[in-house]
Amino acid sequence: MELAIDIHAHSVFAGGTRALQISPEKKKENRKIAISHLEKTNFTMPMKGIDLIGTGDSQFSIWTDILKENLVENEKGIFTLKNLSHTSFILQTEIIFTTKIGKRSKITHVIFLFPHFSSIDMFRDLLDSWEVKHKKMARPFVKCHTPNQVSDRINAILDIDPWIEAIPAHIMTPQGVFGSNIRINRLDEFFGDVSSRLRVFETGLSADPEFLALIPELDDRVLISNSDAHSSALHRMGREFTVISLDNFDYNGIISALRNNKIVYTAEFPPEEGRFFLTGHRAGRKSPGLHGENEFCYFSPKHVPKKDVCPICQKNLTVGVYQRCIEISKEQGENRELGSTKPRQEFIRMVPLIDILSHVLKIKTKTAKSLIKNYHKITELLGPEKVIWQMDSNEIVNKTESRVDTKIINAILEVKAGNFTFDVPGFDGVYGSLVIGKKGNFEEINVIISSQKKQQLDKYL
Ligand SMILES: [Zn+2]
Ligand SMILES: [Zn+2]
Repeated sequence: MELAIDIHAHSVFAGGTRALQISPEKKKENRKIAISHLEKTNFTMPMKGIDLIGTGDSQFSIWTDILKENLVENEKGIFTLKNLSHTSFILQTEIIFTTKIGKRSKITHVIFLFPHFSSIDMFRDLLDSWEVKHKKMARPFVKCHTPNQVSDRINAILDIDPWIEAIPAHIMTPQGVFGSNIRINRLDEFFGDVSSRLRVFETGLSADPEFLALIPELDDRVLISNSDAHSSALHRMGREFTVISLDNFDYNGIISALRNNKIVYTAEFPPEEGRFFLTGHRAGRKSPGLHGENEFCYFSPKHVPKKDVCPICQKNLTVGVYQRCIEISKEQGENRELGSTKPRQEFIRMVPLIDILSHVLKIKTKTAKSLIKNYHKITELLGPEKVIWQMDSNEIVNKTESRVDTKIINAILEVKAGNFTFDVPGFDGVYGSLVIGKKGNFEEINVIISSQKKQQLDKYL
């Protein structure tokens, strides 16, 4: 059977959105918000066409208790909400590992999947023994001194149960292992010996299998894609996902499918939409180096100024995913170019339906009622969002004719045909801006906008 999964998500306790407003004193209120998140997730995922989602933050004790009280185990290691079983859940968390690389400290996020609650208890004991503050933080830090210690600790977690899986998260973002924040070029420079036990890697919103095919070390690894959603809103949940083929619908079946690369395809955000696609400095940045409200620059890898120095503020640019992939390819002894190596697995590039609606209807707030209304109408006519990306274009037209604004349907068809791009593409923490109806070329971008420092710019060009 095929299963659409999104195994990197968060509870409302993980920081990022509403969690900031949740104070530990308001226990009752916290529980209410957390349970309603669970229920919303349960109803949202079927509209997206996703069968199974990670619980997020599974070791965070308030959340663990809520999960224990509200979920029932239907198949071994697979849970659903009591009485409202539309979506399956798997026990999952994300932990932040840090270690010294030279004199600086590097951060890397890692997803963990657990087969049962008792393995989470043992995981928590380990965190206690390392004096990790996991009671106050849903996404705790495991601070290590060396890559060897990172290795020992991940090994210790994996040794709790042979079915626990560790998956380096969003590997090309600044908080991912190959990201720009302290650049390393091999997995063992951060993970030490445990690298050989890591089989599955998350592409993240900023990369996809085509870009990761530039990195030789990932050739025999498995790539998956997840939403990393911090809220149950439609534009967050399942914005990326993975379709796997499995023999047994239970936890072990899912882990076996992942480990053995039974990936049917991943559904990917176009990398150029991601916030760290190109190298650059955004407008209005305060540090390092000052940019005015209208001063910014961004570059394709071959146009990046020497030593990655910003022509506007003279500080180091935020190095983008594309440049990192090229650098790592070179450092690993190959000079791969984009498109020269076939991606290890199938994938589709799509734009989440809610983003298309927001673009066509010119409504920026992605949770606006009129967008949600249109979303519901389209998915009622066509089926879950996932199905739309595989549906024949004629069928889409026939099923929606005269019932959905043709501008919306045309935009969906253009995206299906790959006629879309992001102009400006994402760089230095800013998401790319969607343009539907034309294709992009990211090889020749060399943009510097600076009012006062035009003189200085020329020598960097
Ligand atoms: Zn993360
Ligand atoms: Zn700058």
